[in-house]
Amino acid sequence: MSDTIIQVRNVYYTYMRGTPLARQALAGVNVSIERGELVAIIGRTGSGKSTLIQHFNGLLKPDSGTVAVGGRDIWRKGVVLRDIRRKVGLVFQYPEHQLFEETVAADIAFAPRNLGMSETEVDEAVREAMRVVDLDYDALCDRSPFELSGGQKRRVAIAGVLAMRPEVLVLDEPTAGMDPRGREEVLAEIRQLHETHGYTIVLVSHSMEDVARFAERLIVMDGGAVVMEGSPREVFRNRDDLVRMGLGVPQVTGLMAELAARGLPYAEDVITVEEAMHTLLPALLRVSGRGEGEVGA
Ligand code: ADP
Ligand code: MG
Repeated sequence: MSDTIIQVRNVYYTYMRGTPLARQALAGVNVSIERGELVAIIGRTGSGKSTLIQHFNGLLKPDSGTVAVGGRDIWRKGVVLRDIRRKVGLVFQYPEHQLFEETVAADIAFAPRNLGMSETEVDEAVREAMRVVDLDYDALCDRSPFELSGGQKRRVAIAGVLAMRPEVLVLDEPTAGMDPRGREEVLAEIRQLHETHGYTIVLVSHSMEDVARFAERLIVMDGGAVVMEGSPREVFRNRDDLVRMGLGVPQVTGLMAELAARGLPYAEDVITVEEAMHTLLPALLRVSGRGEGEVGA
């Protein structure tokens, strides 16, 4: 049984419409996000990903088509957009650029305070949000956000959105520009939000490796439209199409496909390094005459 939380129907959007600089960003997009899933949106730069997710919480209004959250058209008369923005929490690209308060706690408290929560509620929401993203309240609440590591800053920014207690968390390229350690930290956090805390998560990502490991479903955008949808394994079977769109498949998928193309009996639709290990190791051990042995941990 499906429980659709965000439904986008036939949405068109053009920036600077009616001017010589008009630029169509969305051309008839249909997308639905189901409650409880972790879905990733991929697509080359300029394909419309950021424009689309800003329609999810009413930051942008479609030129035509509809957006429904929890079954209600958000542009219908009587819908309070503030409620929608609270339900669908949006973490922008480079969210740490929007940190500006003197302390971590004040920064995380900003949105809930604006929503009119009482000080007691705000304090509770801040503590809870920090707990959820594994930031130690006592150690960090009075620190300046600017003194923190890259990964910590980004987690503060995510906590600031979580403090509004949204139903859906939408993150625009949450690992962009981070070093490998910061990336792992942020990705682990996102996975935990989904697995442990049950958040519905929409993740915009550039990294085929990351989405292969984390996403349950992929939505592929090209030229302002959704051109492919499915599990990462299904989507990554279309390597040629993805390459044509300026994307690609995880490197390990490419490698395994090469091996398969040369007649080696390896699975063609391996999408993670762990899976590759489990396919390759037994075969390599056989070739080297060392028997089946134990397959790596
Ligand atoms: P993505 O997030 O996939 O990189 P965007 O949604 O940012 O794509 O952009 C889609 C298209 O809209 C691109 O052609 C981009 O140049 C254009 N665009 C995005 N933001 C603006 C803006 N603020 N003003 C004018 N054009 C924009
Ligand atoms: Mg973008």
